[in-house]
Amino acid sequence: MGTLFKKIIDRELPADIVYEDELCMAFKDIHPQAPIHLLVIPKKEIPSLANISDEDKMLIGHIMLKVADIAQSAGLEKNGYRVITNIGTHGGQVVPHLHFHILGGERLGPLNSSMNSL
Ligand code: 5GP
Repeated sequence: MGTLFKKIIDRELPADIVYEDELCMAFKDIHPQAPIHLLVIPKKEIPSLANISDEDKMLIGHIMLKVADIAQSAGLEKNGYRVITNIGTHGGQVVPHLHFHILGGERLGPLNSSMNSL
């Protein structure tokens, strides 16, 4: 696929990386939609959540646990935060590499306005 997120994984593009392990990576969104806006991605190239399969069960579980850990490390646990994954054109997905947005640091608006701005 060779998306720009793959280039970030391969260190061909710079990113403000806040977490990395053998399966996933988290970095700051370049156009933050909230005071804290992080993206958590698998290193495996999966276009979106619609493309996961049985063999990704462990990977997705791992990423969900890391989403919670990373949000906690960013200081978001006390007041809460939002996790979003966009899928395809109608979902507003721009980068076709599965990613989970972590948004927080302020009281977020209704879900539909937040989705429109991502
Ligand atoms: P999507 O709309 O596909 O769900 O989200 C893609 C996200 O990637 C957007 O929030 C956008 O700001 C972010 N993004 C796009 N290009 C870059 C980049 O080069 N670096 C970083 N860190 N984020 C990016």
